[in-house]
Amino acid sequence: MDAIKQSFYVMRALKNKNFEAYFVGGCVRDYLLKRDTIDVDIATNANPYKVMDITKAKPTGLPYGTVSIQKEKFKIEITTYRRDGKYTDNRHPDEVIPVQTIEDDVKRRDFTINGLAMNDSYQIFDYVGGKEDLRSKIIRAIGNPDERFQEDSLRILRAAYFQAKLGFQIEKETRLSMANNKALLQNLPNERVFTELIKLLKEPNQLMALKTLDATGISKELPGLEKGIRFIVDNMKEPIFIDAFFALSFTLHGSVPQAWKFSNIARLKYEKVVELVNRNQPLTNVDLFNQGLEICLLTNKVAFLLGRSSNQKRALEERFEKLPIKSALDLKLRGSDLITILNKKQGAWVSKAIDDMVNAVLEGKVSNTYEALQTYIIEKEAKHEK
Ligand code: ATP
Ligand code: MG
Repeated sequence: MDAIKQSFYVMRALKNKNFEAYFVGGCVRDYLLKRDTIDVDIATNANPYKVMDITKAKPTGLPYGTVSIQKEKFKIEITTYRRDGKYTDNRHPDEVIPVQTIEDDVKRRDFTINGLAMNDSYQIFDYVGGKEDLRSKIIRAIGNPDERFQEDSLRILRAAYFQAKLGFQIEKETRLSMANNKALLQNLPNERVFTELIKLLKEPNQLMALKTLDATGISKELPGLEKGIRFIVDNMKEPIFIDAFFALSFTLHGSVPQAWKFSNIARLKYEKVVELVNRNQPLTNVDLFNQGLEICLLTNKVAFLLGRSSNQKRALEERFEKLPIKSALDLKLRGSDLITILNKKQGAWVSKAIDDMVNAVLEGKVSNTYEALQTYIIEKEAKHEK
């Protein structure tokens, strides 16, 4: 609400020059729901150059008629009334067609609750039935849902996102249309789908939204996630963290699909978890040492959710804390010591012997002191020579 108050001056500046200006979209919805709003959107009939002249806004999306003012804690985006061609990213269609009225502007928007306009006297202008839907807690496409989802299929996921955020029901026709048009998600770059999915997973009513993705079959269009979503819907009472969501889904799926284009680090992490969960054996100190705490905790979480192990979180944290060594460099006997003690030439055997000492120390067979390791190595060498 504060963000709205602090944006009034922009509206008044435009009005003083005889232009129209309205708050639109999410900020009006959130204002009416008494929720905090971060970003403020303003629609106006002034063209972007006039807006920059009058408000000192900076060009941030001129092809779409958008200019912005960055405040310390929030952003004001001012967009000239428009209608949209096709969308390729979340907020910007490939071509925009200028329109004359706020009514035409709000009709291009996705859902009725996002189609409300408000002037600088907190008066609401509703050309799409948004007020009633807000009161009834309903997410409904503006106009013909098939047409709206065909224009921009990301709206299919946006419906689920707003459900996760607000806990609203999706109106029947809209929901049916989401299901019927779900295959169109394949036309979107995976990055856009991924971003929307992550947004959804961060919201409090995550489970409600995942249920929608499952029941409508939309989850089938999300590579490698269908089984995970089904499992979560059937078994979980509380939202799942994003990392666990992917790790669980890929374990059930059997692999990490290339489609999601994770960073190498993330991908290796999920692959390791899939491998460790499927190994079906308790995590050892050697696992903690080799994989680190994060991967072990994630593995435990997934195995626990799948009912394959008890929750070992605390135990793993404690064991990790108490590992006698955290790196091979912590060994009290070094590679150079090995060469002296055994009086052998440098070679591949050194790193093998270090691995061997690491495992022996982690498994508690030898304590990490120079003397104990020396004895261990000499005995081992003697056995080897026999
Ligand atoms: P959030 O709380 O996630 O920011 P929001 O409603 O503000 O919700 P934004 O993605 O910030 O959503 O978009 C601002 C407004 O722009 C929306 O309320 C909606 O009116 C319009 N809009 C955004 N994306 C689309 C889209 N893909 N199709 C149609 N209208 C859209
Ligand atoms: Mg927003």
